[in-house]
Amino acid sequence: MVNKLIASVLPLLPKKFVWLFSKRYISGETLDDAIKASKKLAGLGIRVTVDHLGEYIRELSQAKDVKAVYLSMIERFEEEGISATYSLKPSSFGLLLNFETCYSHVREIIEKAKQYNSFVRIDMEDSSCVDAEIELYHRLLQEFPSNVGLVVQAYLKRTPGDLKYLAAFHSSNTPVNIRLCKGIYMESPEIAIKDRKAINKQFADSLEFLFEKGIYVGIATHDHDLTDIAEELIGQYGLGESDYEFQMLYGVTPELRTNLVKRGHKMRVYVPFGKEWFGYSTRRLKENPKLAFYIIKALFKHG
Ligand SMILES: Cc1cc2nc3c(=O)[nH]c(=O)nc-3n(C[C@H](O)[C@H](O)[C@H](O)COP(=O)(O)OP(=O)(O)OC[C@H]3O[C@@H](n4cnc5c(N)ncnc54)[C@H](O)[C@@H]3O)c2cc1C
Repeated sequence: MVNKLIASVLPLLPKKFVWLFSKRYISGETLDDAIKASKKLAGLGIRVTVDHLGEYIRELSQAKDVKAVYLSMIERFEEEGISATYSLKPSSFGLLLNFETCYSHVREIIEKAKQYNSFVRIDMEDSSCVDAEIELYHRLLQEFPSNVGLVVQAYLKRTPGDLKYLAAFHSSNTPVNIRLCKGIYMESPEIAIKDRKAINKQFADSLEFLFEKGIYVGIATHDHDLTDIAEELIGQYGLGESDYEFQMLYGVTPELRTNLVKRGHKMRVYVPFGKEWFGYSTRRLKENPKLAFYIIKALFKHG
């Protein structure tokens, strides 16, 4: 109750104040910050996927600037010798304004990543984007079979059907690569499962379906119950490095992350950076059960 109340007033608080407890989820505002955070994680044996913060754009012309950031980000990570993959949100490239323009920008970024044998993950956004993002992925996979992946959200009722559709074009020439997560956007009960147990069941069933089909999975969760189920399935199917990895968000459940790494699992952390940190961090803060605690702590420290 307290968390919900605080979450609803978050957008009304001064940005400087929100930053006090947002900074654990964001590597910083600049590319240098992302590089520093990635090097630190590399020292812990953890890989990264780097995301430039920013979502819907209002004008198509803004997409070029976002692309330029991604192109220089890839160059810079290569120069620094950091092995990274990249995550992007198609709406930042005008997905809902003009599909073809978005396609050509994202294509250029993947082409750059391919030069360095790297990889770009298409994040899944709200339900208005799902069809277009699957279509975008399908087209790009034909040209860049080893350099592009998609995200699937377990809370969507349509997900089992989408997974069957994606699995149908999985082959050695076009190896489908999926990040499986619960899903973060506010969706209506008509299209999304609301019950936590039922979401977890669909997550577990989806994971098993992907393993059965031999599809590489980024298991993106901080939920102990789900990491336990995943570890059980990994053992049952006798899977190794080339079949899956765990993925977590920067600043979330570092203890669980360390334990999975210690048990020999590949781990990748989603490292966001950029000036547009406010939207991303308020979403993180809303799902943090300890939100009230952090706010009170920040108030006492700086109030
Ligand atoms: C690498 C990665 C990429 C993602 N990409 C997408 C995407 O493309 N599209 C999309 O819709 N969603 C994405 N998500 C978000 C995801 O859908 C969930 O909203 C988010 O991961 C929380 O779900 P959970 O599985 O961790 O379970 P939850 O039940 O939400 O959390 C499990 C436990 O994790 C801890 N925890 C969770 N969040 C926080 C927090 N913010 N602060 C502190 N502790 C916390 C708590 O202990 C909590 O009890 C991504 C998540 C990850 C890890």
